[in-house]
Amino acid sequence: MVVVVDTVSNHPVRPRHPEKVNRPDALSPAKPDWIRVRAPNSRGYADTRRIVKENALVTVCEEAGCPNIGECWDKKHATFMIMGDTCTRACAFCNVKTGMPGALDAAEPGHVAEATFKLGLAHIVITSVDRDDLADGGAEHFAQTIGAIRARCPATTIEILTPDFLRKQGALEKVVAAKPDVFNHNLETVPSRYLTVRPGARYFHSVRLLQRVKEIDPAIFTKSGIMVGLGEERHEVLQVMDDLRSADVDFLTIGQYLQPTRKHHAVMRYVTPDEFAGYEKIAYTKGFLMVSASPLTRSSHHAGDDFAKLKAARAAMSR
Ligand code: SF4
Repeated sequence: MVVVVDTVSNHPVRPRHPEKVNRPDALSPAKPDWIRVRAPNSRGYADTRRIVKENALVTVCEEAGCPNIGECWDKKHATFMIMGDTCTRACAFCNVKTGMPGALDAAEPGHVAEATFKLGLAHIVITSVDRDDLADGGAEHFAQTIGAIRARCPATTIEILTPDFLRKQGALEKVVAAKPDVFNHNLETVPSRYLTVRPGARYFHSVRLLQRVKEIDPAIFTKSGIMVGLGEERHEVLQVMDDLRSADVDFLTIGQYLQPTRKHHAVMRYVTPDEFAGYEKIAYTKGFLMVSASPLTRSSHHAGDDFAKLKAARAAMSR
């Protein structure tokens, strides 16, 4: 039996993706020249890593094997992943560990706030695993984390990247009431690829979730993103843009999907930088306040700088 290598935890026996170990290997084409990343070995990277470990925090940067970790951590930009390192979903693209998560850590909101303070972050991004096992999907924990950061670092702006809270009545409202500055929920792919790529989710539920955020609190910026290279057609990407604009979403990110292991969905195609530039141009014409589309675009990449641009774009619109 092939075991998908667990490159993050120290557990030698349990495969990281038990649901995927018996799948045949999916082979991706070799990476093109334009997918190049810096090795994570700078002083800033080491400092960020120390603060993350000292506060016993989990980051999506490490868990998802993000290619930008060298660049982001050098600038002390880490994206914290709350509610544990184990996800109740098993998406075909994602490297986060799958299984039954442990109990919530009541001290975690305080630890996240402390790490935000120590890193001196002007803008923080918080994401989480899916917690379908919890009655509120983890909404209260999100709200507590936002509250703890506001108390410890009042000047820091807060961006959250949430699960879909599918079948969790009242969860979204609880998170929105905590007033994050940016509410991000990624669609991840086009609707025709959902059953294969994101089988536990529903496309229109996710679009509606984003729309509800704006209905409840129009002051909150909304953001969503997809990966390309998963077998989608160009016209489907344009349709996603229209769906997100119908939901009044402000900020769109589009990045290249990269395969974490051979047991994950294969890269069907590397989208060229010119095609990304074309997507960005079209998305702006459709009315997004901000668009980031490039091979290495990720939801939280340059999130602080992008938030400043987002605010400026809204201010310019209202003049
Ligand atoms: S892009 Fe986001 S997930 Fe990747 S290293 Fe940067 S902050 Fe972390």
